[in-house]
Amino acid sequence: MAPVKRLLISSSLLVLCVAASASAPQGRPSPPTSPRLYVFDCGTLDIADTGRFRLKREEVATDKLSVGCYLVVHPRGTLIWDTGAVPDAMVTAGPAPVRYRLLLPDAQERNVTIARPFKAQLAETGYRPADITYVALSHYHYDHSANTNDFASATWLVRQVERDAMFAAKPPDLVQPSTYAALRGSKTTIIKTDEHDVFGDRTVVIRFAPGHTPGHQVLYVKLAKTGGVVLSGDLYHYPEERTLNRIPTFDDNQDQTAATRQALDGFLKKNNAQLWIQHDFTGTAKLKKAPAYYE
Ligand SMILES: [Zn+2]
Repeated sequence: MAPVKRLLISSSLLVLCVAASASAPQGRPSPPTSPRLYVFDCGTLDIADTGRFRLKREEVATDKLSVGCYLVVHPRGTLIWDTGAVPDAMVTAGPAPVRYRLLLPDAQERNVTIARPFKAQLAETGYRPADITYVALSHYHYDHSANTNDFASATWLVRQVERDAMFAAKPPDLVQPSTYAALRGSKTTIIKTDEHDVFGDRTVVIRFAPGHTPGHQVLYVKLAKTGGVVLSGDLYHYPEERTLNRIPTFDDNQDQTAATRQALDGFLKKNNAQLWIQHDFTGTAKLKKAPAYYE
């Protein structure tokens, strides 16, 4: 009897799903009943010198760093978190990943390998840039902001100190202002509290995490099945920074990074949350990628 019962249950679920998608406007998916987190592969950075992270090459399992972009879909709206290292307009569509050499305004060069454009991956979730309610960057560096202009119709969630640096006459190192220039005219919420509760129910919270940059932030997402997850921004890059207690040489304020890391450890413990280090190549490779999602 049991197999028949299971079959009946799954066919009634199927009917419900069909009815739900039929009622969605313009093909946009119906809002979920609890938050979902989508992870996108926004590339791989080749790091020539791990010394910038105060790590010897032999101290890290790999010198590669992943680049993550993320979409949170909440019953009350959507949030894009970080937008990649290479603008989609530069990415040539093809079957094989392509390595791009970026020359930044501060004359530093970076190599990034991209398998697929970000927006092609986003389209598979059913959401378009025009459907996005909020956009937030962990911080202003080029490898987190490449496709930000596409989300200028969303409300930008940022701290004043970070916004000021992004639009300063002389921007900081490692930024590519052309990739976020459209945010200048976006509807903007300036975050003034240590925690910003994005949708008002404590399931999606942006936490102030300064040090790497003055307005650096991390994202906490409380998922019904997966549990709590914190997206690290660049509070860490290599997982070995965490175990060996190393702080990058180029952090804006290294003492602040140390204090932020300590405070976040307390938060992770209190909320029984996992830390997903966005640049952790090995950890990110194990995550399921969009259109699959965590819930
Ligand atoms: Zn980064």
